Amino acid sequence: MSNATHNAILCRYGEIALKGKNRGTFERALVTALKRALSDIEDLRYIRERGRILLHRKSFAAFTAAHEDLVTDGLHRVFGLQSYSMGYMVESNLEAIEKIVGDTLPQHYGQELQAGNGPVTYRMRARRAYKFFPLRSQELEIHFADLLLPQYDNLKLDLDNAVISIGVEVRENWTFVHYGKMPGPGGLPVGASAPVLVLLSGGIDSPGAAYLAMKRGSHTNFLTFHSAPYTPPETIDKVCGIVRVINRFQKPGLMLACNLVAAQKIIRDRTTEKYRTVLYRRLMMRVASRLATEIGDRALVTGDCLAQVASQTVQNLEVINNATDRLILRPLISYDKTESMALARRVGTLKLSEIQCADSCTVFAPRNPATNATLNVIHKQESRMDTDELLGLALADVTVVNPANGETNPFRFNGTKEARVTSSASSSTP
Ligand code: ATP
Ligand code: MG
Repeated sequence: MSNATHNAILCRYGEIALKGKNRGTFERALVTALKRALSDIEDLRYIRERGRILLHRKSFAAFTAAHEDLVTDGLHRVFGLQSYSMGYMVESNLEAIEKIVGDTLPQHYGQELQAGNGPVTYRMRARRAYKFFPLRSQELEIHFADLLLPQYDNLKLDLDNAVISIGVEVRENWTFVHYGKMPGPGGLPVGASAPVLVLLSGGIDSPGAAYLAMKRGSHTNFLTFHSAPYTPPETIDKVCGIVRVINRFQKPGLMLACNLVAAQKIIRDRTTEKYRTVLYRRLMMRVASRLATEIGDRALVTGDCLAQVASQTVQNLEVINNATDRLILRPLISYDKTESMALARRVGTLKLSEIQCADSCTVFAPRNPATNATLNVIHKQESRMDTDELLGLALADVTVVNPANGETNPFRFNGTKEARVTSSASSSTP
């Protein structure tokens, strides 16, 4: 549309402004996220003002086309950002505003404004936050209509549906002029809510759940379960790929992998086949809770959708919840599959998740899983095993995975591993 070169970006945030005395913390979290997303643009300055963050280069030079691509790509990953505009920063005086509008309007809309072309609708939206500026918001709008309409024959005022909409925001130390808004992802900046541990499989749902937790301000770490050697190394490679995509929305989270196979074998040998899925899930919750405590995460997040599969009926979810005292968040609980697919597409994980690969849950999976487990029955099933031993076996095989290359290192528990495993295991035994 234009070959204009902007020299500033105005970032708007919504909900954060409502957070009273916590506002400063939220704004700092947002600036941190912006800095991360735009780290490839050197020499950016961030000016924090009520409800807005203005960005410009320290030299005040214009952004290049490559910078603008980085901005478009980066800002859709900054939670807490309601919308942003690329535009022009000038001094807060009428002359400067007239000059920048005079220079840039034809750059943006040269074609439309050419004499002889059909009518083109116009409006200005002014916002005077600096109360000592001589013209009020509406007076500014009228001033520019009086100035521009006589200048361009085909310009027509339309306050509701204008093709050309000039935004002007007057602050004490700067004024920002722009020709359009881009939507941000909304939500809250990562760090605004307590951190969480996402149970991340290679499926379609759990990456979307991670995204939504981040969107509401939770930094996320990741835990994936596998069953090597019954699941191939590709299972973890696939999750690494997913983690790389999701981590772009936040300061990278830790990826943990836990091998459940030893515990799964005991479950397979000692319990009734149809309850295996629920029993696996209860074990997963215990392991996840223990690891969450270890790394300081406050809640668990899963990609469960109500009634999607056997383990996700109301009855089974209740029994699974009961395995831990920890809060379990399920952001996708009401999603249809088409909706979680659309979400995964937006996050950028759908294609990776669609690659077929064995999952830990499918190892020794029952042919007809129970959909209506009760706590009574499950406690009886668990009484055939030593659940502490199962938890210990799983926790003994936890690794930290580098998602960049799949390299693994043993997870180090703080303090003595065995002592902590035992004490936590006994507290979570039903
Ligand atoms: P799909 O997208 O195919 O539904 P899914 O990963 O959601 O795959 P489900 O069987 O629906 O698989 O599992 C429900 C939830 O349980 C997942 O969203 C995830 O949070 C957790 N989960 C399942 N399997 C694993 C695993 N191997 N590692 C970590 N979490 C898992
Ligand atoms: Mg699912």
